[in-house]
Amino acid sequence: MRIVCIGGGPAGLYFAISAKRRDAGHDITVIERDPPGATYGWGVVYWDDLLDILFRNDPESARAIRAESVLWQEQQVILRSEQTAYLPGYGFSVGRATLLDILGQRATELGIDIQYRHEVDDLSTLADADLVVICDGANSRMRTRHSEDFGSRVDVGGNPYLWLGTDKVFDSFTFAFEQTSAGWIWFHAYPSSAGTSTCIVECAQQTWETLGFDSLSSEDGVQLLEKIFDHALDGHSLISQSRGEPARWLRFTQVTNNTWCHGNLVLAGDAAHTTHFTLGSGTRLAMIDAVMLAQSLYQHDETATALADYDRRGRAALRPIQAGARTSMAWFERADRYLSREDAVAFAYSMAARQGAQPPWRYQMHLATQIPTVRTAMRGFHTARRRYLALRRGEPGRGEPGREEPGQGGPAETHDGARVAHRRPATRATR
Ligand SMILES: Cc1cc2nc3c(=O)[nH]c(=O)nc-3n(C[C@H](O)[C@H](O)[C@H](O)COP(=O)(O)OP(=O)(O)OC[C@H]3O[C@@H](n4cnc5c(N)ncnc54)[C@H](O)[C@@H]3O)c2cc1C
Repeated sequence: MRIVCIGGGPAGLYFAISAKRRDAGHDITVIERDPPGATYGWGVVYWDDLLDILFRNDPESARAIRAESVLWQEQQVILRSEQTAYLPGYGFSVGRATLLDILGQRATELGIDIQYRHEVDDLSTLADADLVVICDGANSRMRTRHSEDFGSRVDVGGNPYLWLGTDKVFDSFTFAFEQTSAGWIWFHAYPSSAGTSTCIVECAQQTWETLGFDSLSSEDGVQLLEKIFDHALDGHSLISQSRGEPARWLRFTQVTNNTWCHGNLVLAGDAAHTTHFTLGSGTRLAMIDAVMLAQSLYQHDETATALADYDRRGRAALRPIQAGARTSMAWFERADRYLSREDAVAFAYSMAARQGAQPPWRYQMHLATQIPTVRTAMRGFHTARRRYLALRRGEPGRGEPGREEPGQGGPAETHDGARVAHRRPATRATR
């Protein structure tokens, strides 16, 4: 089958890898407007569930992604640089540029043609493709062209945000909330690669305007943020430039579609759906879409049936996740109200419980988490769990390196909880 992916982000590259692994006969081209190595943003977080899927789907790229990822432990919620509350747990983070580099190399090894610096403007130039995967991101131009066919809806969030880096190395996922005369402003920060962390700054529109970010130059704006967060950053710098351009304040783009397929066009990743960044799931979901779509194509002889299967399962699984993401975005848009009346421990609890009602014991657990010895015990528990999961999926150094071909390593689980069994062994290219 001749397949063209428009967009070489996580969705496009990982779909290409997943489809080629299942059927080496596919002729796949990924068209990306940017040069290799150029991308927006900093690190993205993910959890064990994604590693499980990646190791089953393509152990080679999974090993490389894991090797380039950093671990963060616990979440810290800091109010006014005075009070800190803790939330248990751990996760991983990988630089977006590093992730794309790994996926690009792997795709090339598998024989996928990646055409960088090529912007698709007209779908009629792809008339010879049997399937066109539209994975050109949240502001997808190709989806917009067919917005009526897909039933697209695009809403814009209320809070301005800025995606930055910093040379302060965080080892926990850190939320720092600072009160200014104009209102509250906060960052979400986590390590992303050796020596740098990701730092996403957010505030209410009113606060943003009153602080003057609408008229300050990029440099002056970053300097003001460094001043506001001086304590939380321990005097470290914020880094605005990511691909030779300063970061821009944006508002979250919420994308939904009534259907993800139309004729031989299919949506994947942010072009199909977005989830607010406070959930830290967009890349994960884009890669899961990629696996689901590749698997549906593999399982069904008719392309139309495969696309309908992917569309039905994918959208059903996404519904609760997008609802949760909307709740999360709305909670952060009202954060000023909670911040003004709560201490760090109560505030951290309401933040952690923002998705819905919690059983009473959760609050007792939360109070216990603030005790250092309890936190040490929880870290120990999480370390043991992490090692067990790493061993189970065959992470190098933790157990037998993943040697399985698709079809031999057991099923991968996708976001609808469906088990994706690989039916026939595929050609495997080695790194
Ligand atoms: C502030 C912030 C923080 C985030 N943090 C996380 C996180 O911690 N964890 C997480 O899982 N997710 C996170 N995300 C979400 C994540 O970045 C996206 O969900 C993910 O990048 C989606 O992948 P994609 O491949 O669908 O789209 P993209 O990554 O946007 O890739 C689309 C690609 O298409 C290319 N393109 C666009 N138009 C064309 C064209 N016409 N022709 C050719 N190429 C084109 C673009 O250059 C781009 O490379 C975050 C997002 C934001 C905004």
